[in-house]
Amino acid sequence: MIPPLDMLPGGVLVTTLGREVRFANAFFRTDLGLDDTALVGAQIETLLTPASRVFYDTYLHPLLLNEGRCDEVQFNLISGSGTPVPVVACLRRADAPETLVFWCIMRADNRNKMYEELVKAQEDVNSHARRMQDLAATDSLTGMPNRREFERQARRDLRSADRAGHSIALLMIDIDHFKSFNDNHGHAAGDEVLRRFGATLMAVSRKGETVARLGGEEFACCLYDADQAGAAAFARRVHDSLRALVVEQRSVTVSIGITIRPAGGTRDLVALLKLADVALYAAKSAGRNCTMHHSDTGPTPCT
Ligand code: GH3
Ligand code: MG
Ligand code: MG
Repeated sequence: MIPPLDMLPGGVLVTTLGREVRFANAFFRTDLGLDDTALVGAQIETLLTPASRVFYDTYLHPLLLNEGRCDEVQFNLISGSGTPVPVVACLRRADAPETLVFWCIMRADNRNKMYEELVKAQEDVNSHARRMQDLAATDSLTGMPNRREFERQARRDLRSADRAGHSIALLMIDIDHFKSFNDNHGHAAGDEVLRRFGATLMAVSRKGETVARLGGEEFACCLYDADQAGAAAFARRVHDSLRALVVEQRSVTVSIGITIRPAGGTRDLVALLKLADVALYAAKSAGRNCTMHHSDTGPTPCT
């Protein structure tokens, strides 16, 4: 008759506190390919990988001495073929009639695999969430930040500019005569203008300068720590770089409206964009392809 402990689908080990194996059930023979006659009398170290030996010395053994038990500990045994086998075990010390340690050992290969799959699934979820976040923040035609992302970044800039005592420049940019471009060359060519202008705007912007497509042929910029002169220089860079932008043999120009919000000024972004929009409207009225600045006395040209 097969001894009952040999029927168990896990390892049963009895060792002394001096680490000598007194008993091992059939699990070690069948699952780990170890010779059970050689096991009895062997030192427990011979069954453990080097890292698990350190784990036994520094953690398991002291715990057995102090508390008499270790629960759900994970380490690696070495199989008969020399490969490490991850296991999870519970250990109990019994002191009478002789101090012995009883080990219940389960293979943990699948548990490790499950952890790896869980970690992988978590990474997939995180990268999917990041991708969704990026999509929600990006204008699909130009690949630049969209209105929602612009407002988020501009509001963040307004808050931190207050703490640092910096001014913020807000610019509204609108492509000139875009409707006629669409009417003459088609919507696809119009889209190409929007894409190329978006790329131009991103190319001229530097660190601390947020540029975005608000919608249609309207774009906006938020320049951190920029005054009137800094904003005017940015607008000049935009106008200048557009000289190289030709689609369907037509050049593209834009009109720009600027408002400067001094440190400690209103945090009402919508109101600030409205002021920049008033200046933009004035730039359209002044003949387009130019920049106007919103000041207390009304829109004034930027040179
Ligand atoms: P202005 O110089 O005064 O700004 O005149 P405009 O023609 O540029 O302005 P208007 O507001 O009359 O026309 C804007 C046009 O932009 C009308 C609309 O069909 C076009 N438009 C808006 N969104 C898109 C888009 O995603 N792709 C294309 N191709 N056209 C668009
Ligand atoms: Mg417009
Ligand atoms: Mg326009």
